[in-house]
Amino acid sequence: MKIPFRRELEFEYGAVTQISPNIRRVIAHNPSPFTLYGTGTYIIGKGNVAVIDPGPADAKHIDAVLDATRGERITHILVTHTHTDHSPGCRLLREYCDAPTYAFGPHGSGIEEEGVQIEESADHDFDPDHAVRHGDRIDGVDWSMECVYTPGHTSNHMCYALPDEKVLFTGDHVMAWSTSVISPPDGDMRRYLQSLELLLARDDAYYWPTHGPAVLEPKRHVRAFIAHRHDREQQILRCIEGGTQLINDMVPKMYTELPEFMYPAAARSVLAAVVHLVQRGEIVADGDAGLNARYRLA
Ligand SMILES: [Zn+2]
Repeated sequence: MKIPFRRELEFEYGAVTQISPNIRRVIAHNPSPFTLYGTGTYIIGKGNVAVIDPGPADAKHIDAVLDATRGERITHILVTHTHTDHSPGCRLLREYCDAPTYAFGPHGSGIEEEGVQIEESADHDFDPDHAVRHGDRIDGVDWSMECVYTPGHTSNHMCYALPDEKVLFTGDHVMAWSTSVISPPDGDMRRYLQSLELLLARDDAYYWPTHGPAVLEPKRHVRAFIAHRHDREQQILRCIEGGTQLINDMVPKMYTELPEFMYPAAARSVLAAVVHLVQRGEIVADGDAGLNARYRLA
């Protein structure tokens, strides 16, 4: 099952694009192998609006969002998760408006154990005014959104549905152009797969991720992502069977088309899959199931 990837998107940095009568988007100038063209900040409603993911701490981008909402009032700021390309813009935006922030919680808040180490691309300063949970509704003057908790990419990842338009804002959980990086310990493969299954039970017409174009066939896309992770597991099992026990040796065998500078990110995703295989008792680690452990079949 091939993932129906799409990357094409018409936009201009600093300009607002009208996506539907009730949805606009401004893209920040932070292109990278992880963000594609950059962070897409969504504006929902007219007159009294919500902003989803103000993006990085980039004053020019916040100016563009303010320009796009000139003469309107920002009443809500929604955050999908606390990576530095999503939430730090909240602090800048709040210098110009008094809208409260909504999110699952601060970085790492979806992890239950204590003392976990947290990766460096996280925004540790963000703490939402309102901690929202799965199924919560957030009501504006003429719009209403529903919170869809989707841990996996991060433990606090939240998607937001706009039921009136059957649209789901998927953050970094499901993107049209790429799979998501799942980096333990805050990233968790078991929960990510559960969060994909959760979307299959929904009835969204399409998804708008934070990066890149819309996902036009949501269920086909999600099913392909699930199958892709299953294929990766099979690759890992074959590597181990063939005597490749270290994750750093598995990566070049598994990611034959990936440029080498992306190997460290790929290793995090392999680790996530390996941890999930260990949890299910299919493989065992010599010691803690980390990046440098040796793995063998159980
Ligand atoms: Zn992210």
